Amino acid sequence: MTSTTRADCVRRDEKDPLAGFRSEFLLPEGLVYLDGNSLGALPAAAPGRIAKTVEREWGERLVASWNEAGWWDKPRTLGAQVAPLVGAAPHEVVVGDGTSANLFKALVAALRLNPERPVVLGESGNFPTDLYVTEGVAEIMGAVERRVDPDNPAALSGALAAGDIAVLLLSHVDYRTGTLRDMARITRLAHTNGALVVWDLCHSAGAVPVELAACGADFAVGCTYKYLNAGPGAPSFSFVAERHHAVARQPITGWHGHARPFDFSAEYAPAEGASRFLSGSQPVVAAAALEASLEVWQRVDLGLLRKKSLALTELFIELTETAGLELVTPREPERRGSQVSLRHPEGYAMVQALIERGVVGDFRAPDVLRFGFAPLYLSYADVFDAAAALVEVVRSGEWHDPRFAVSRTVT
Ligand SMILES: *Cc1c(COP(=O)(O)O)cnc(C)c1O
Repeated sequence: MTSTTRADCVRRDEKDPLAGFRSEFLLPEGLVYLDGNSLGALPAAAPGRIAKTVEREWGERLVASWNEAGWWDKPRTLGAQVAPLVGAAPHEVVVGDGTSANLFKALVAALRLNPERPVVLGESGNFPTDLYVTEGVAEIMGAVERRVDPDNPAALSGALAAGDIAVLLLSHVDYRTGTLRDMARITRLAHTNGALVVWDLCHSAGAVPVELAACGADFAVGCTYKYLNAGPGAPSFSFVAERHHAVARQPITGWHGHARPFDFSAEYAPAEGASRFLSGSQPVVAAAALEASLEVWQRVDLGLLRKKSLALTELFIELTETAGLELVTPREPERRGSQVSLRHPEGYAMVQALIERGVVGDFRAPDVLRFGFAPLYLSYADVFDAAAALVEVVRSGEWHDPRFAVSRTVT
């Protein structure tokens, strides 16, 4: 097989239907950013939108902006814009709070919908907050936590067949390996066995097409600061399937989730629809960045996004084969998210050396070099340059320099 050249990549960029989106993001010159799965790039419209929210809406109109600028309804209006990105109806998604808090709400609500069953089934390799929140929920609800490897089909169906699982919590795309799970098949399997499903979409929203409604998902949560580019600490989203709207009860029953918050009634009455998953006041300034980002996302064809994502990850896999690192991410396109993970015991130092060359990836303990591919602002030439830099870092041994071994708080 003849290897892809940089000129081939430039030609592919010229024909790329998504290439125009690059100018809608601000990135430092000369940097290849492969960490959009951790913190997405800054949308060019975000600084202006934030300034408008602060200077005009807050500074001049003050408290009137809760009505005039639509602050009160932001969790719903933003939720309605996230909805098409995850295959949901507009009234099934709200934006607010963080992913960890929303996981807590979704798991408690699911357990309450399935009260005869005592077990929350999680996955052994899930992102730590998912594991920790599950532990916390199990303790409060008097439930039991069990874990399974969801990429082992026999283990998963065996665990569900036990018949005592109230809810299954899975990441749609594994944050460490980049493995994409079959949402339709797994949701069906869980339902057949009497379990509800909470999907964590942190590495799916804005990365792969998601079809929550078509798959019959019960609940879902996801970050907006990763592939959705809403900025550090941006609010999370919650999906609640319409069939659960009338009965689902989440535990943080604050006034924003009340049916008539401005009655200031002394008794709680849950709102209609996914709004009952709201709790309290939301970070309106942070929401302005999400709003700027979602305006870009409304124009993205998710089919084209997926096609380019797979082409970029395939290219990176092909071009880094000679580096001698073990590929962790599945090679089969239908099992791959928008990420490539490679394994090496000295991966941390390699990633630091690569960052010094202007290619930003990250490291996930114990030994994974992780590269996220955001198709809206990455070109094929970027991927070519990043792969060449990685091969060169490994070949030259420059990562042995002791300064690359110094570990920082955030990896
Ligand atoms: C990034 C991520 C989170 C983050 O949770 P926060 O509450 O936003 O810190 C949760 N779950 C998964 C799977 C993630 O990848």
